Amino acid sequence: MRCLALDLGGTKLASALVVDGQLQQRRQIATPQQNPAVGLQHALAEIIQTYQGQFDAVAVASTGIINHGVLTALNPKNLGGLADFPLQASIARHTDKPIGLLNDVQAAVCAEYREQDKSAVQNFVFITVSTGVGGGIILDGQLSTGPNGISGHIGHTLADPNGPLCGCGRRGCVEAVASGRAIEAVSSGWETPCTPKQVFELFRKNDAKATALVQRSAAAIANLVADMVIGLDVQKAVIGGSVGLAAGYLPLVRQYLSDLPRFYQCPLEAARYGGDAGLIGAAYWMENKLNNNLF
Ligand SMILES: [Zn+2]
Repeated sequence: MRCLALDLGGTKLASALVVDGQLQQRRQIATPQQNPAVGLQHALAEIIQTYQGQFDAVAVASTGIINHGVLTALNPKNLGGLADFPLQASIARHTDKPIGLLNDVQAAVCAEYREQDKSAVQNFVFITVSTGVGGGIILDGQLSTGPNGISGHIGHTLADPNGPLCGCGRRGCVEAVASGRAIEAVSSGWETPCTPKQVFELFRKNDAKATALVQRSAAAIANLVADMVIGLDVQKAVIGGSVGLAAGYLPLVRQYLSDLPRFYQCPLEAARYGGDAGLIGAAYWMENKLNNNLF
């Protein structure tokens, strides 16, 4: 099957044909910023026209939450002019092929699950620790999206009831403690202000303040994995994102997880896919959905 995959992010809109997990004719443009809803309508029309006649289905990985074909978010302000954008309808205007829509982290978990031994791993989680903290969940070999597209937003589970206020409006979410933004919220106030990247450089030089900050993040992610294991019987977790894949971070998460009782533990791996996880995962999910296989 030839799938036209799109990855809609806050800053970029990537597209490619995906055949057997391989990308062909990958293109990328900037996500329209001025008058974004009209700009995105035009961009989608042009993309579909470019690949017309070459695909059997369309699969979209998008930022935010896809609720019944419409784009939204826990905090719709984060989407700017794209809040309530009718993504499904805007694509359907230009093609009669089947269309599948996913949140980008839900798509990424599909890409990572593609690489797993399905007979050994049926419950699986992908956690991205980057500017924010996101997740995607596979249960009984199927992607969990939930009736409102919310499933997997595990960055907004509780890490610390007395922690910082999260962008979603709740206090002490994992994202408010562990994300790149959370690290920066502290390190930007240091006597010598640091970016998250500089915090990791200092952490690798055993700087005490930077180490404490990275440890706080890694401990929150280890506890999040533990919650997934005990709540959903997750058998393996994969960690990605710019913070998640920073040198020295994953071993620290492993160490905190290994300090917990055995029932809370599961194997942890580094994510294999980088920037193209959304395209590959959305296409894989769509292909399986149409073949009535997994997902
Ligand atoms: Zn939150």
